[in-house]
Amino acid sequence: MYDTLIIGSGPAGMTAALYAARSNLKVAVLEQGAPGGQMNNTSDIENYPGFDVISGPELSMKMFEPLEKLGVENLYGIVTAIEDRGDYKIVKTSDESYQAKTVIIATGAKHRQIGVAGEEDYSSRGVSYCAVCDGAFFRGQNLLVVGGGDSAVEEGLFLTRFADSVTIIHRRDELRAQKVLQERAFANDKVSFIWDSVVTEIKGDSNKVTSVDVKNVKNGQISNHEFGGVFVYVGLDPVSDYVKNLGITDEAGWIITDEQMQTACPGIFAVGDVRQKDLRQITTAVGDGATAGIQAYQYIAAHS
Ligand code: FAD
Ligand code: NAP
Repeated sequence: MYDTLIIGSGPAGMTAALYAARSNLKVAVLEQGAPGGQMNNTSDIENYPGFDVISGPELSMKMFEPLEKLGVENLYGIVTAIEDRGDYKIVKTSDESYQAKTVIIATGAKHRQIGVAGEEDYSSRGVSYCAVCDGAFFRGQNLLVVGGGDSAVEEGLFLTRFADSVTIIHRRDELRAQKVLQERAFANDKVSFIWDSVVTEIKGDSNKVTSVDVKNVKNGQISNHEFGGVFVYVGLDPVSDYVKNLGITDEAGWIITDEQMQTACPGIFAVGDVRQKDLRQITTAVGDGATAGIQAYQYIAAHS
């Protein structure tokens, strides 16, 4: 029986583990991959206090290393269900079952697809959702980035390190991204924009993407543009399917908590991007994690 079982080791989960372990709780983190979460797919982080700039994988390791020293146990597995048995909770993976007095859900969010013809067919053959992972394979190419948020603009800028040109296609005529990123993109000679337009089909030969059909949403005109790769950044969906039975999410699947990160099930907390909130950032994930780590301790103290 763990005091606190944390699901997911992104910045929210790792910070929850830090605070819970420093409260002397018996803590484990259950993760399906490498520690770091979405930070592992991020090139340069420029808005985490204390660092001018730090790479996502490096910040991940800096958050992970102290946990080992504090005796946090690392478990591997994909969580498929949580059962609330009142005083304790059962967390299930496909082949294991764990018991804990408190559970902190920190499974974050995953990239959304645009859902057009060719997207699935050319996935890993020119369609990518991770510039950090795949950018270097597109040296000297003309690339298309889909989306108008922070991810599209920031990762589009990152791709200019490899590509000859980067075109950002956005469905409106105004970006959602932070102003500082917008200004950087507008000033970059390699970056251009297709406004008020959406991708309708990704085309290619037997090996790779060669072009993209684009529709102008204002006049309905369709045109074809040659690109060697398409990077999709059209937002995120919560990773929360496995808690549907608990009734703790809103309609879109974001988990609802109070300010103490407590969900509608006492002893089950949720933190980070998976939570219903306005600002999904590393700083806010870390803040949520700290709150939940302490709240888990207080919940156990009150119930023992
Ligand atoms: P995540 O980082 O998503 O971590 C969730 C973890 O849970 C993952 O490790 C995942 O493997 C694990 N998991 C999921 N499901 C399961 C399961 N069923 N079982 C076990 N484990 C599971 N924010 C900034 O502040 N600055 C930036 O510069 C910045 N750049 C970004 C660039 C990109 C391209 C993207 C996509 C996001 C960026 N963000 C940035 C946002 C930031 O990365 C997130 O807000 C933050 O990572 C959220 O942390 P989290 O711990 O809540 O979730
Ligand atoms: P996002 O902010 O939700 O932006 C998604 C973008 O994709 C929006 O511009 C949206 O258009 C567009 N879009 C959505 N569905 C579409 C579709 N079907 N077809 C075409 N376009 C579509 O997502 P994000 O940029 O991935 O960012 C996610 C979170 O991570 C945010 O909280 C963000 O702040 C954070 N993040 C932070 C940084 C940073 O701080 N440097 C970097 C990356 C990400 P509309 O604008 O019209 O809605």
